[in-house]
Amino acid sequence: MTYRAVIVGAGIAGLAAALRLYRIGWEPVVIERAPARRSGGYAVAFFGRGYDAAERMGVLPALRDRHFGAVDMIYKKADGRHRFTVPHRAVQALLGDRGLTLMRGDVEEALYEAVEGKVAIRFGTTLTAVKQNQDSVCVELDDGTVLDADLLVGADGLHSTVRKLVFGPEEGFRRDLGHVVAAMRLDHLPDGARERAFTTVTRVGHIFMIANLGPGRTAAFFTYGVVDPAAELAKGPRRALTEAYRDVTWAAPDLIRGMSADSVYFDSVSQIVADRWSDGRVVLLGDAAWCVTLFAGYGSSLAVGGAELLGTALLRHPDDVPAALREWEAELRPEAEERQAMGRRNTGSHAPANRLDLLKRDLPLRLAALPPVTRWMRKHLRLH
Ligand SMILES: Cc1cc2nc3c(=O)[nH]c(=O)nc-3n(C[C@H](O)[C@H](O)[C@H](O)COP(=O)(O)OP(=O)(O)OC[C@H]3O[C@@H](n4cnc5c(N)ncnc54)[C@H](O)[C@@H]3O)c2cc1C
Repeated sequence: MTYRAVIVGAGIAGLAAALRLYRIGWEPVVIERAPARRSGGYAVAFFGRGYDAAERMGVLPALRDRHFGAVDMIYKKADGRHRFTVPHRAVQALLGDRGLTLMRGDVEEALYEAVEGKVAIRFGTTLTAVKQNQDSVCVELDDGTVLDADLLVGADGLHSTVRKLVFGPEEGFRRDLGHVVAAMRLDHLPDGARERAFTTVTRVGHIFMIANLGPGRTAAFFTYGVVDPAAELAKGPRRALTEAYRDVTWAAPDLIRGMSADSVYFDSVSQIVADRWSDGRVVLLGDAAWCVTLFAGYGSSLAVGGAELLGTALLRHPDDVPAALREWEAELRPEAEERQAMGRRNTGSHAPANRLDLLKRDLPLRLAALPPVTRWMRKHLRLH
């Protein structure tokens, strides 16, 4: 008997689930709202559960090919003057042997290539209704198609429609961390930013970073504290960033002026706190379920690791999907909650709220090359 799954979302969580389910003999169909692949993004650290899962799923070589090696982390003042550098050897020691520095799009691309031609992906489609009974789940799509499946996976991100349709409105689950983030790919390396480096300007409450992982792989990202994320988002990225970064004279003004609003990821930094991730034959995965946020630096890793574990649980209980989903959640939840807690704690170190927080963040970074400090930071940041 072949089991069928509908997976909503062709991001990292959805593609990893598609690969894992295909490998265990299921027949997944992926529904993606965007008209084509969304391979853009920012730099991510990939390690821990995600690294182990990628290895078992056979995508590690493709990820390693895209890994550029550790990069220098350069810290600048708002006018571009140098403050200090964490050398790439120290960054590699922090990340360890089983950690990669990648663009978000690299992870998406490696997973996409692994499922291409094997799993049906329907772009430009979304779902409008979900019904389920003991034996199956029925998903209605916006083109009028109805799909019957054994499992529905909601891997449709922070603003998940599956979650809304099956579990309830987003407001009941979303916890804003009082920050917004803007991220974009760049087609050039701004003057004063170095190749193979993360170049960061930190002002109280604000971070601006340019990440370069080799030729053609440059991204910028901004994150800053706000009182009312919804009001900030309503301004649109250009106005919001112009106002928030008016004190940063290095690189940011040109980037903000030159950006096109539709190529910018601009959203609130929010976690999803749900007391259960499944309902019968419907399960949430990745940011739709837990969204640990960029402050945890573990969302891609947990999405891939969670997808692989989902396949393991379904293998153990092929004829009892709800039981498999409960077992999966029991195993994964402690780690997801720990990473969420870390994301909340790290809010201050990513965009320090005051000068004392800034000093507290900078001190270990300045000393990161010293082995005892490296060990402390690896433990503190759970980089293993
Ligand atoms: C700036 C930044 C830095 C980050 N850094 C790191 C890091 O260092 N390490 C790390 O591990 N993680 C990091 N993350 C987090 C990481 O990118 C995500 O957690 C990870 O990609 C998992 O996302 P996802 O697949 O669950 O959701 P998404 O990437 O949001 O994908 C959801 C997909 O579903 C589609 N979709 C949405 N709604 C619908 C619908 N109704 N119908 C059909 N399709 C739909 C979307 O178009 C999208 O393709 C970072 C995130 C940000 C923003």
